Amino acid sequence: MENESLFYRDTWVEVDLDHVASNVMNMKQHLPSDVQLIAVVKANAYGHGDVQIARTALQNGAEYLAVAFMDEAIALRKKGIVAPILVLGASRPEDVHLAVKHHITLTVFHYDWLQKAQEYLADEATLDIHIKVDTGMGRIGIRTKEELNAIENQVLRDPRINMEGIFTHFATADELDHTYFEQQLSVFNELLSHLKTKPRLIHASNSAAALRFPIANFNAIRMGISMYGLTPSLEIESELPFQLQEAFTLHSRIIHVKKVHKGERVSYGATYEAEEDEWVGTLPIGYADGWIRKLQGQDVLVNGMRVPIVGRICMDQCMIKLPKGVDVGTVVTLIGEQGQGRITINEIARTLDTINYEIPCIISNRVPRIYKSSGQMVGMENSLLQN
Ligand SMILES: *Cc1c(COP(=O)(O)O)cnc(C)c1O
Repeated sequence: MENESLFYRDTWVEVDLDHVASNVMNMKQHLPSDVQLIAVVKANAYGHGDVQIARTALQNGAEYLAVAFMDEAIALRKKGIVAPILVLGASRPEDVHLAVKHHITLTVFHYDWLQKAQEYLADEATLDIHIKVDTGMGRIGIRTKEELNAIENQVLRDPRINMEGIFTHFATADELDHTYFEQQLSVFNELLSHLKTKPRLIHASNSAAALRFPIANFNAIRMGISMYGLTPSLEIESELPFQLQEAFTLHSRIIHVKKVHKGERVSYGATYEAEEDEWVGTLPIGYADGWIRKLQGQDVLVNGMRVPIVGRICMDQCMIKLPKGVDVGTVVTLIGEQGQGRITINEIARTLDTINYEIPCIISNRVPRIYKSSGQMVGMENSLLQN
């Protein structure tokens, strides 16, 4: 077992690596064989655990990894990942030596950045880059053929720099209306036509586009949310070409059970008042774990049945209303299946009035992650006790 370390709290995340594997394999099968799969493992793999997801993706057909910034790439290198890694966001020009040292591919999205980076590059260094084109996302990226040509010329003259790729990012690939997506695609194609040489990797699609629009495949796609088994948006859920399998579940155990009498109150503000004699259980999870106060009233699963969170959620604990007294130690599922019951990440996102992407990301690193494959535990990550 890798990264073995214990944990001593009764709240944990389980990540089903078989589900990640099957999502990656299904995407691979959905794509033509000459299209590479870049597994997006930024933000600790959307809260799932960077190295475990990276390994699983690579073992099941991913060729490349992508993260948001260099620290995330270096973290993967330190954990033994040797596959190519692209940093999608901005890096500092003065840090290019680190990219060279760790064989990390950087994104170039401005001519001035490139010039500065060249000043910091050692003579014998080689730096792999992908050029980022802003075709309508309005975040980072070059926007004109003049800037593209200037960057290309500068790179072609510098033997230390290898222009391995060029890419863009869609703002609306997960929406039913295709208009803006098509506009972005045609801007990208137009800019590509001005390149003197085509780089090895041309990529545009995130999960939504990769699932829906083969016309935007080019020769690589960037798979994020769907690798974790989550739909890029609710409106395209019915169009998905294969069944996504959610990998992330969240569990706790009841650490205290008591009978609260009619009129007695629960938690900060004493806002919850028992309407009759009722059973209340306490869970060791709170807003510091990412189980934020807005989740007051949300259901959890106990013995396969839905019961509500009552009273305010505290930093480290919250209370649930039970239909009857249950044993201390009873497992409570906050996200996932239990018996006949199921609480999806989409349900939590709806309660919080946000998108599913945000939910696993906000479950903090105070909550240990357990990795499962074929029903067996195959690893664990407890960032509190590691190192
Ligand atoms: C996060 C990100 C992705 C992944 O998008 P999903 O919708 O999660 O598949 C792809 N490309 C870029 C540039 C990103 O920032």
